[in-house]
Amino acid sequence: MINKLTIFGVGLIGGSLSMALKKAGYCKEVVGCSRSAEHLQRAVDLGVIDGYSLDPAEAVKGADMILLAVPMRAIKPVLTSIVQHIEPNAIITDAGSAKGSVIRATQEAFGGIIPENFVAGHPVAGREKSGVEAAIDDLYVDHKVVLTPTSETSQESIERVKEMWQTTGAIVEILDVKQHDDVLAATSHLPHILAYSLVNTLSKSEYGDDVFAFAAGGFKSFSRIASSDPVMWRDICLENKDAILSALNDYQQDLSDLAEMIEAEDETGMTELFANAKATRDRNV
Ligand code: NAD
Repeated sequence: MINKLTIFGVGLIGGSLSMALKKAGYCKEVVGCSRSAEHLQRAVDLGVIDGYSLDPAEAVKGADMILLAVPMRAIKPVLTSIVQHIEPNAIITDAGSAKGSVIRATQEAFGGIIPENFVAGHPVAGREKSGVEAAIDDLYVDHKVVLTPTSETSQESIERVKEMWQTTGAIVEILDVKQHDDVLAATSHLPHILAYSLVNTLSKSEYGDDVFAFAAGGFKSFSRIASSDPVMWRDICLENKDAILSALNDYQQDLSDLAEMIEAEDETGMTELFANAKATRDRNV
């Protein structure tokens, strides 16, 4: 059970967690904190949180769980603003989509150490919509939440964060930080970059927006994630730069190989490539 949960960034991710925990009766009070009173009041009106404060120190007073669900580049400033005010029994966790940079930001905010009550986390669930209006109470049901504790993280902190996420219906997995960032760069960050890039290329078509008039289901499902929040994805690219560039490099190589096959009308090569991709997807997705 949580007595007071403070959420920095009551948008899709933070709002959905609050809704799920409230529905389960797992949390007595949820308080939001961000820069905009208007957004936070909207979250109160929607019943997503119980109250809010624009003052980070006041927001974490009495909190036994603190979630950072802000865009990735805002994590360090938020941590710096609360570091002197966190209650001794509080657990701090985050929802950032890359973990190495969050661990580094935490270390910097806490003067060179990673506190034992900090548990880095990433709910691998989402939608292309953002903001508190997009929050839903079943966002995490049957979705994975990855925790990437360090050697400093206490077992009790891991258990408390794990129990919180399990209450939402999520499946909690523990991963090494680098493995998380490499795997998510390949399976989540790269597809978003490809979707943004493809739609951007088409936006420069000589046919203007008419090019989209004949878009069928394939284009719609491939490009859906290009409707995601631009600031969030800018931050993810910056915060998981090396792993993303490595995944992008592998992909560019494979794309040029495919272009060469098409140029050479290599029927066997193309059939094998498409068959391998189909079999891999059918087996795993
Ligand atoms: P969102 O835009 O819906 O919500 C972000 C919230 O943070 C907003 O309420 C905004 O007002 C607030 N905010 C922005 N800058 C702030 C600052 N400097 N200080 C305090 N509050 C600030 O975004 P989201 O989709 O909920 O994403 C939040 C985090 O979760 C991001 O770090 C993202 O990487 C991660 N995440 C997102 C998804 C997804 O699919 N959307 C999935 C997993 C993890």
